[in-house]
Amino acid sequence: MLIGVPKEIKTNENRIALVPAGAEALVSAGHSVMVERGAGLGSGFTDEQYTAVGATIHDVEEVWARAEMIMKVKEPIAVEYARTRPGQLLFTYFHFAADEALTRAMLASGAVCVTYETVQLPSGELPLLTPMSEVAGRMAIQAGAKYLERYYGGRGMLLGGVPGVAPANVLVIGGGVVGTNSAKMAAGLGARVTILDTSLERLRYLSDVMPANVEMIYSNRHNLLEKLALADVVVGAVLLPGAKAPKLIKRADLKEMKPGSVIVDVAVDQGGCVETIRPTTHEDPIYEIDGVIHYGVANMPGGVPRTSTLALTNATFPYAMRLARLGWKEACRQDPSLALGLNVVNGQVVYGGVAEAFDLPL
Ligand code: NAD
Repeated sequence: MLIGVPKEIKTNENRIALVPAGAEALVSAGHSVMVERGAGLGSGFTDEQYTAVGATIHDVEEVWARAEMIMKVKEPIAVEYARTRPGQLLFTYFHFAADEALTRAMLASGAVCVTYETVQLPSGELPLLTPMSEVAGRMAIQAGAKYLERYYGGRGMLLGGVPGVAPANVLVIGGGVVGTNSAKMAAGLGARVTILDTSLERLRYLSDVMPANVEMIYSNRHNLLEKLALADVVVGAVLLPGAKAPKLIKRADLKEMKPGSVIVDVAVDQGGCVETIRPTTHEDPIYEIDGVIHYGVANMPGGVPRTSTLALTNATFPYAMRLARLGWKEACRQDPSLALGLNVVNGQVVYGGVAEAFDLPL
């Protein structure tokens, strides 16, 4: 198959959908890989690293015009709609249900759209979203540690303390993929960590695998308020599948918090679990309300594109390989998890959530 990898052109997007190691494996399997000039630079991969493993370098028009499968990271934006060809296979994040213009453009293009975010394993896990939650969860602690510094308006303390000085208290609300990764990082730095979750099953699992400086507490308003008053860093990591995040921390709760404490609301992309959170950017990540620093970057993995690219492509690559080897029809027939990624096929919506969102026929 002829596989095309364009450069991401969404603002501040520096990831790439295929690393040289992936290109090498595809070329070894008999496929051809076309990479847009400079597409890997944002993640630290040069054109020479791609050509060294047998990929070829092209202009953007040529990549879109010739490739049978386009591999991307972010959904196509307006200039890319027109480049999409009938029957072309697109494998990327789309988030269709949040974007009617994109949905209608892909329907009109006649392309076959396999979305990363709806590929789902029988366990319910979303294997192509998990790596980005891992990155965001770990990064939340780096952000929390940084903004605790006095220079940024924080309480001026080290997460881990030093011998003779108590460490910081980190409160993680939601013990899923993001929360678990936050807790591990914070615990590793020596902080005292509390994870709140409503799932007893999850709390039981976490109590088996977490180190001794992490406590697991059932999430209700009483326990939340008690822990909030002690927290130096709070990580919002709650998810209700298919719904907006519940606002667990209210505006009035902020005055119960310590001045200079930091809230990193990773769930901001689903509306956030803190009433006072709003989406921010890597250029201007924080603001302060009632003495509490708020961090609301909606695309945290974008801040560490090299790690994010490697983590994402580790997860997407096996699927890309199967799509290239078998074609989308047979690959989806053989793997029901991958078939759940099919959202738009040759002008037809084939995913319930997208049809419902815009009242389109299924
Ligand atoms: P997940 O489903 O793995 O975990 C969510 C957890 O929240 C579950 O364990 C669930 O039991 C728990 N929960 C639900 N209601 C709760 C409540 N009232 N109190 C405490 N816990 C509760 O989800 P995830 O992959 O960890 O993602 C968490 C959030 O982070 C999502 O909103 C996701 O979109 C977001 N996210 C953001 C970024 C970013 O860059 N900002 C990146 C990745 C993920």
